[in-house]
Amino acid sequence: MSGVISHEFEYLKPKNLDELVDFLTQYKTKAKILSGGTDLIVRIKDGFESPEVLIDIKGIGELKELKFNGNSLFIGASVTFNELIDSEVVRERYPLLWEASKSVASTAIRNRATLVGNICSAVPSLDSGPALLDYEAEVILKSRNGERKVNINEFFLGPRKTVLKEDEFVYGVLIPFINRKNGSAYVKLGRYNGEDLAQVGIGILVVEGKEYRVAHCAVGPVAARARKVEQLLNGKDLNDSLIEEAKKLIVEEISPITDIRATKEYRIHMAKIMLERGLKAAVDRLNGKGPKYGERLI
Ligand SMILES: Cc1cc2nc3c(=O)[nH]c(=O)nc-3n(C[C@H](O)[C@H](O)[C@H](O)COP(=O)(O)OP(=O)(O)OC[C@H]3O[C@@H](n4cnc5c(N)ncnc54)[C@H](O)[C@@H]3O)c2cc1C
Repeated sequence: MSGVISHEFEYLKPKNLDELVDFLTQYKTKAKILSGGTDLIVRIKDGFESPEVLIDIKGIGELKELKFNGNSLFIGASVTFNELIDSEVVRERYPLLWEASKSVASTAIRNRATLVGNICSAVPSLDSGPALLDYEAEVILKSRNGERKVNINEFFLGPRKTVLKEDEFVYGVLIPFINRKNGSAYVKLGRYNGEDLAQVGIGILVVEGKEYRVAHCAVGPVAARARKVEQLLNGKDLNDSLIEEAKKLIVEEISPITDIRATKEYRIHMAKIMLERGLKAAVDRLNGKGPKYGERLI
């Protein structure tokens, strides 16, 4: 992060959810929620955002909860990536999310950056996207009018656009537990190790019974599932010719652009290679073999 914040804003720190709801009802689009600030503060400094009010949610205890009840994992809005990495439940039962969390930025950023801030930023390269999409996570939204749940597959509308209404906030994310043997892999391509956003991200989840879930980020306007690839793979054993077919198909499902981090052609080329490595690693892990979770696959 560089530069100074050159415009003035009011800073509010609600102590509980009722106060947060009151502030959001009062200020609507004039306000921005401040969580870890690793995205928002950079954007304010760079002049891309100029909210009149910042509502800091870090004082609300309820939003810090990380709870597993045997059927699902609740991740409160203020839970950071390092808290996810340190959680035994996440490491043991949601290894795809654990692996994706480890790939985010650096320890320093992960100490502040939250998973919910990541999805609310809704950038195409968000590293939590593929894991949440594969796990079919539900996003819990709250406002004065109550609560609604949105499947993560319907949450993103475009780059930096979500279904969040002006007086709503994300309370947390609920991830169902898959009670069958599964193996997974998050393959992230960056320009270097450490604080770099994904040039391509591929998340694979293979569930016992030959069920394949494949999602990607940074190769389209939003992170999304690759449904055609899934359809091709479902019910089949993985082998070289099937992988070749899947590699051809993924090109139809992504629409990468050329930007400062990579060309469109490079992204397409690498997405195919990453799909292959991710599928092989996930199937191997399902069978108790393969690279350890957290080991770089590209
Ligand atoms: C050096 C650096 C490296 C980075 N590397 C990565 C990386 O490798 N991978 C990656 O995916 N990202 C990366 N990021 C981006 C950023 O760290 C993540 O997106 C992070 O998860 C954002 O979380 P936060 O808590 O800091 O969000 P904030 O910056 O506080 O908020 C982000 C946005 O979400 C909104 N928001 C936050 N919480 C809520 C809520 N509960 N309800 C409604 N709206 C909300 C805010 O108003 C804001 O618009 C990096 C950033 C930096 C500065």
